[in-house]
Amino acid sequence: MSKEIITHRCGHSVETEIKPPMKNFHGKMKRNYFDGWQEWRIAQLEKELCPICYEKERNEKIEKENREAQEKSQKRNLPPLTGSEKQIAWATTIRINTLEYVEECLVQKKEWANSAHKEENRLSRNKKVDDMEEAANKILSINSSKFWIEERASLKSIENIVSNAEVWLKEYK
Ligand SMILES: [Zn+2]
Repeated sequence: MSKEIITHRCGHSVETEIKPPMKNFHGKMKRNYFDGWQEWRIAQLEKELCPICYEKERNEKIEKENREAQEKSQKRNLPPLTGSEKQIAWATTIRINTLEYVEECLVQKKEWANSAHKEENRLSRNKKVDDMEEAANKILSINSSKFWIEERASLKSIENIVSNAEVWLKEYK
């Protein structure tokens, strides 16, 4: 392990500990191998922002995303969310991303439904799509930021939305 002064692409120089990629790296690997790796790692770090600029850029990106989500939500007349200011900002972004994802899914699923050759299949598939739309509309009525934040992983799957909508409504409304 060694400490190096890294000059990042933002121009800031930061003393950084160059850690071996795995435990006992020194013991297991030959010294010249580590030196080669260390050189590569330093070059890589130099191409990155320093931790402070990285954090700043990341926060600005999140703020921008949240602002855009807020504007889109207003345009679509989505109901206001409840929670702390921070929760609302985050949940607004998750909700609009979910909505856009669901809309895209529905377009695809409708195509799939109508592509069935047999009429009975067409009908049963369209029924499934209607169920998806209904489930999505139900969860859109949930105003609790907590819901959107806690279930954000599940909300990435239309199948999960369909199977959980009722439970979520009871739990979060
Ligand atoms: Zn910097």
